[in-house]
Amino acid sequence: MSVLIYVELDNGSIKKTSLEAVAYGAKVAEKTGGPVVVLALGQADEIALQKAGNYGATKVLHAADEKLTHENSLAYADALSQAVTQENSKVIILSKSGLGDAMAARAAAKLKAGIVSGVTALPEIDATFKVKRGIFTGKAFATTEVKSDVKILVIKKNVIEIDENDVASAQATVEPFAPQLRENDFQASVISVEKANLELSLTEAQVIVSGGRGMKGPENWQPLLDLAKALGAATGCSKPVSDLDWRPHHEHIGQTGIKVAPNLYIACGISGAIQHLAGVNGSKCIVVINKDPEAPFFKSADYGIVGDVFEILPKLTEAAKKL
Ligand SMILES: Cc1cc2nc3c(=O)[nH]c(=O)nc-3n(C[C@H](O)[C@H](O)[C@H](O)COP(=O)(O)OP(=O)(O)OC[C@H]3O[C@@H](n4cnc5c(N)ncnc54)[C@H](O)[C@@H]3O)c2cc1C
Repeated sequence: MSVLIYVELDNGSIKKTSLEAVAYGAKVAEKTGGPVVVLALGQADEIALQKAGNYGATKVLHAADEKLTHENSLAYADALSQAVTQENSKVIILSKSGLGDAMAARAAAKLKAGIVSGVTALPEIDATFKVKRGIFTGKAFATTEVKSDVKILVIKKNVIEIDENDVASAQATVEPFAPQLRENDFQASVISVEKANLELSLTEAQVIVSGGRGMKGPENWQPLLDLAKALGAATGCSKPVSDLDWRPHHEHIGQTGIKVAPNLYIACGISGAIQHLAGVNGSKCIVVINKDPEAPFFKSADYGIVGDVFEILPKLTEAAKKL
């Protein structure tokens, strides 16, 4: 009986959100017993995969088949199910993403497993297995009891805090894994992927500086970019801003855009409409800068600054540079 974690790769290395999933899996295994096994699909650097050991994994199954180069949720779910059977895994963990949810749902159907997506804490394990998850776009929590033999958990970012200074120096052994791939899984295949020119991915970022219509126009974005640079932050925006082409669409945050969960979200000239909040309420700390003291965003803010964003941003940048 093992705990199995599927890790997403970026340029051959394990994504940070997936390293969190490995650390989460190691904590689960402390309660359930059994080894912590990682599954990586596609081209990867062996040394980068061994790094999963630092976060508590004992073994990494690596399927390097050329066909798995591009993400394909059908084939990936098939490979995941085969790994679960081979390793006799009872708890399967994926990090929440479009791919993670698609794989989890398909693997759950194949394995007759119970699935909980949007998990926000470690499970309570005694005679029962209970998991807490966010519902209503993070405004409430539900506790779900999973009774199936095999359980699949799709965990949200920041569920577990990792102090990089505390990670162990252990290395996981990397074993080749050759799942049987069905031609039917490749009826539609990704031929190439063009990445948006993002210096920092919004879903991975620890800090996000985001702008709304209060920025008044694309020509005024420089003070926001300066603060983002000083903080090593990614940049985001509200929907109207991307609709107006002031900023690229991949920066659109909210119910109909990207959902983010950074440690720090700084909202500049964003009113705080419910559809925007739906994408940011997983943030650990929210700072709102708005000239209107009645702006609804202040109700969800940990810190609020009432004032003109164009006066405040340069001051924050100056302070951030001193840090
Ligand atoms: C079905 C649906 C889905 C939607 N999905 C999304 C979504 O995913 N994401 C999203 O963001 N929106 C979404 N919206 C739109 C949403 O309802 C709001 O209209 C939008 O979020 C408002 O954007 P905003 O805050 O940038 O602009 P505004 O509402 O115009 O707010 C601008 C704010 O800037 C402040 N301001 C102005 N000048 C300054 C200044 N100099 N200094 C400081 N503050 C200043 C103002 O006081 C105001 O609060 C959706 C709407 C619908 C109907």
